[in-house]
Amino acid sequence: MPGRVEILGSGAAEMTPAFNCHCEACEEARREHRLRRRCACVLVELDGSRLLIDVGSPEAVVEAGEKEVKTLLLSHEHVDHLAGLNLLKWSSTKVNVYCSNHVLNSYYVWPFAAKNRDVVEFNTVEAFKTFKVPVAITPIPLNHSVPTLGFIIENAVAYLLDTVNLPEDSLKRLREAKVQVMLVDATYGLREDYVNHNNLSLALELVRKTEPTIAVLTHIAHYAGRFKELERAVEELSWVKIALDHSTFTLT
Ligand SMILES: [Zn+2]
Ligand SMILES: [Zn+2]
Ligand SMILES: [Zn+2]
Repeated sequence: MPGRVEILGSGAAEMTPAFNCHCEACEEARREHRLRRRCACVLVELDGSRLLIDVGSPEAVVEAGEKEVKTLLLSHEHVDHLAGLNLLKWSSTKVNVYCSNHVLNSYYVWPFAAKNRDVVEFNTVEAFKTFKVPVAITPIPLNHSVPTLGFIIENAVAYLLDTVNLPEDSLKRLREAKVQVMLVDATYGLREDYVNHNNLSLALELVRKTEPTIAVLTHIAHYAGRFKELERAVEELSWVKIALDHSTFTLT
């Protein structure tokens, strides 16, 4: 199935550069704009369908809107995945949103969903129950601080954020899918500690277990290490990429 995946936001919740932060990664991103990271937002185009996954960055949502997107998947209710949701109100065509019942009833999403029914239609989805938009999407449970769904899209793309490791049944489903492009949470990067998110070695372990054609490490925090250091850490693994905003991958 021909298509492409574009990472519109590759950062963690604080973005890079982070507010008032003067660490090396933040200062470097202030000097070199291609190293700036917005919050989570990914555009997938597959077999004529166009869909957005998470809307953490208002600017990224505006960019995606240049292409007219009518489908949105939401992984969970953290604000770094939702901050651009309000912009959907201005859509000139109806947008279908797919998320868990838990996300729909969360404090930020529910008032928006209830008020904007004329523009945005919310559809609740469940883990392991495939739905079609019309490409087939299978939600899989992730392992985060709140209930979170990852998505497997037509055995072509997997979206795995936010998560630390994966529940066993999700791992099994992902192994069967053998996707072309797998987007993986690697928030902590080179650090050894981790909470609710992968560091680089956990992300790479996930890649080893699931064998995608290309693995893209994303949701990168400013404390993960500098871009060059992260790239160096995976340079021998030609199938592993460190995401930047606007990194694009082709699907065949
Ligand atoms: Zn910083
Ligand atoms: Zn989160
Ligand atoms: Zn996040």
